[in-house]
Amino acid sequence: MASSSFTIRQLFEMDACTNCRLCADVCPAACAAANGELSAVYRLKGLKRNLQARAGRLQKLMGRKPLSDADLNHYAETVFRCTLCSNCEEVCPLGIRLKELWLSLREDLVQESAYPSKIDMIRANLAKSRNVFGEDNAERGEWVEDMRKPPEDLYVRPRAEVVYITGCVSAYFPLAQKIPIALAEVMAASGVDFTLLGQAEWCCGFPLLGAGLMEMFEEFRAQNLAAVNAKGARSVVFACPSCYQMWREYYRAGLELLSAPEFLLRLVREGRTPLQDLPLTVAYHDPCDLGRGARVFDEPRELLRAIPGVRLVELPHSRERCTCCGGGGNLEMVDPDLAAKIAKAKIGEVLATGAQAVATSCQQCVRTMTSHVKRNKIALEVLDIVQLVRRALAPSSSQASR
Ligand code: SF4
Ligand code: SF4
Repeated sequence: MASSSFTIRQLFEMDACTNCRLCADVCPAACAAANGELSAVYRLKGLKRNLQARAGRLQKLMGRKPLSDADLNHYAETVFRCTLCSNCEEVCPLGIRLKELWLSLREDLVQESAYPSKIDMIRANLAKSRNVFGEDNAERGEWVEDMRKPPEDLYVRPRAEVVYITGCVSAYFPLAQKIPIALAEVMAASGVDFTLLGQAEWCCGFPLLGAGLMEMFEEFRAQNLAAVNAKGARSVVFACPSCYQMWREYYRAGLELLSAPEFLLRLVREGRTPLQDLPLTVAYHDPCDLGRGARVFDEPRELLRAIPGVRLVELPHSRERCTCCGGGGNLEMVDPDLAAKIAKAKIGEVLATGAQAVATSCQQCVRTMTSHVKRNKIALEVLDIVQLVRRALAPSSSQASR
């Protein structure tokens, strides 16, 4: 491990940990796996131990042996079995920026060639196909053809006020494609001047961040920024909170960036999206990147309350303390069984509220929770808030999209 991967602040933060273990109690990975090695406190101790073991002079003074490859690889396995949900950071009484630390640590381990083999697949898919699944990037906008009445231009227009960034999961997973279809229908019905980027959209770079491969990111950033700027757009809308977070934190775009709930709430407030009665008891699940990441907690709730007939119930852990669905941090690729266990705990919380449906604002959360519900034949509807809005569109507005 190379200490150069960490900032001075991070080195101080490692030392500041008081071992209170609050982070371990809220870690969805450690709890679901019943394995304390996956918790933040264990990871920090391992990190300090590893850095010390590599510091030659200190090592001699303390009589420590360098880490064996087996030890380092075992440690790396635990580091990548984390959803990057940042629940640990939320509860840390010392305010240690743990998520940032996990990202630096992943980058460091990749440089040391100690990482799960799936990381190579992520690297290869993104280098070759520009999307994380290795699909043909020219097919990124094919979901438009599944709309009831797709426009001839398939929503790829030379110029528009708003660019809608679809994200890889929504573009390629049939289950998740319902989300962009719903959002495009709502925007069309509300008279929004919007465009997609089509194959000019590349992955936002979020999987690179989680895989410790940020040295590849600049090319992706430059491509996406150039594609958006070429449209002359003023605003960029995201139904994927991970794309939204990447743009907010790493793109320096100089444009208005809006998550789908923020954008839709604005349309509803402006009276452009009239909604009709939709009787349904709904629990709202805060996606980690939209909630703890971007601190967007109120807008999705306001949007749900704006739908007549919808009764919003809160989960036992909600807002800042909402538990992860299991779908973050590339965990589904690295350890699908652990991701499924975390999803099981999540759905257990939802069922305890008696809700008929769980709504969220993330394609990946929808996928993860739906997989568990379907596999276990649970009578619970899982959907994105965008789909709920589409369902509640008043007939006069939905006519506009046909
Ligand atoms: S980011 Fe989430 S999964 Fe990772 S260590 Fe922290 S609490 Fe656990
Ligand atoms: S919550 Fe913070 S101080 Fe407490 S053990 Fe975890 S990292 Fe250390």
